[in-house]
Amino acid sequence: MTTELKNTVNNEQQVSEYINKVLSMIEKEEVTQEEAQWVIKETVDGFRDHVNPGFLAYRKTVTEGGQFAAVEWSDGGSCFKDINGKTYIDCLGGFGIYNVGHRNPKVVKAVTDQLNRQALHSQDLLDPLRAMLAKILADITPGDLKYAFFTNSGTESVEAALKIAKMSSDRTTFIATTKAFHGKSLGSLSGTAKGVFRKPFLPLIPGFRHVPFGDIDMMRKTFESCAFVGEDVAGVILEPIQGEGGIIIPPANYLKEVRALCDEYGAVLIFDEVQTGMGRTGKMFAADLFEVEPDILCLAKAFGGGVMPAGAVVANEKVFQNLFDNPFMHTTTFGGNPLACAAAIATIGVLLEENLPERAAEVGEYFLKGLKEAAQGHEDKVLEIRGQGLMIGIEFHQDEIGYEVSKGMFDKGILVAGTLVNSKTIRIEPPLTISYEEVDTVIQSFKEVLATM
Ligand SMILES: *Cc1c(COP(=O)(O)O)cnc(C)c1O
Repeated sequence: MTTELKNTVNNEQQVSEYINKVLSMIEKEEVTQEEAQWVIKETVDGFRDHVNPGFLAYRKTVTEGGQFAAVEWSDGGSCFKDINGKTYIDCLGGFGIYNVGHRNPKVVKAVTDQLNRQALHSQDLLDPLRAMLAKILADITPGDLKYAFFTNSGTESVEAALKIAKMSSDRTTFIATTKAFHGKSLGSLSGTAKGVFRKPFLPLIPGFRHVPFGDIDMMRKTFESCAFVGEDVAGVILEPIQGEGGIIIPPANYLKEVRALCDEYGAVLIFDEVQTGMGRTGKMFAADLFEVEPDILCLAKAFGGGVMPAGAVVANEKVFQNLFDNPFMHTTTFGGNPLACAAAIATIGVLLEENLPERAAEVGEYFLKGLKEAAQGHEDKVLEIRGQGLMIGIEFHQDEIGYEVSKGMFDKGILVAGTLVNSKTIRIEPPLTISYEEVDTVIQSFKEVLATM
């Protein structure tokens, strides 16, 4: 009994000491080599023993020499630094989080200013920033999208969208697309298409069907047969350009035709713009690019400006009004908190003032052209390079080649993303603020890596 008690006390004391050491590290602007070594050791040990050793195995495979090398520590602009001080150009961009760059000063200022006054909301009084952000969203989103519900992540935005769609009719059927990615909570996973992520959790939400993305005939036939068997479609959910699926751009009129089918059959159209939104594709939203108005728009990732986790669904009155009677039908404690709203408001401000969507279109075109030129003579390795704005995919003939390329580029200080759903394609989604010089560096490295293979 005494020993147990003593152990507990000792343990608590040790935990406190450890906490103080960690806090002192967070506080530091520069770490010594010795401190860096300590951080690396604690990180690797912590991942192995308490996070998930699987991550270490994964990192080892993408790091030259099988070391864990990169423990990230700081960031700014288009780059992040590991704790040893090596700088990487971030072409993965957190899978599209950093549209306004890493720690954009205007976003950091808004969040810090808000933090110095109030961090989270009472949950009871009216919080002003939520109202103001909702108004801004109504102004910048396409068509008659008008009401916003705020979340903390992409998957939460999709969950909210599905519930709003379900509330707008008594139907239960959803059409999603193959290679789709909508998140990994049970509802959004129902729309996500990759078997390996879904199988252990089956059955998911009943009523989901997947049709090939871009195939309007299959979409039409599915609408028809669902109506025929009395399982009318409640909604269609898709990404206007598929991200995780490997940057897949649909045929020119596809999304307009999907819109028309939804109208014909009285179904709700949900655009998951968690990745394509906030300027990524060369317009503020991909919906603008394809000139299609969804009934519900899902946002997250870059919505919080790479500073705060934040997401939103924006819907038109027709579908959203079902939540008027009881606004507690769908809620979240942290969604739309003042810090997240401050970040999102500042982010939209930066995107508009600095014309970042237009910039994404221009730089994207330059980047795409450069990558295509660099791949000339390597047709045996590179199958296709495609993109829209700063959402670019390089597809290889085999997974192994893409994998070698991302490894080679990582070693040269450039982070690119092998996709989760389609590892044959590596994704390039840098900050929309990336400089032409940095783009040239990436293109040059790509060329060099291809040459050594
Ligand atoms: C990343 C992503 C999600 C999931 O977002 P989380 O914040 O990781 O839950 C959903 N949809 C799309 C299109 C995404 O790219």
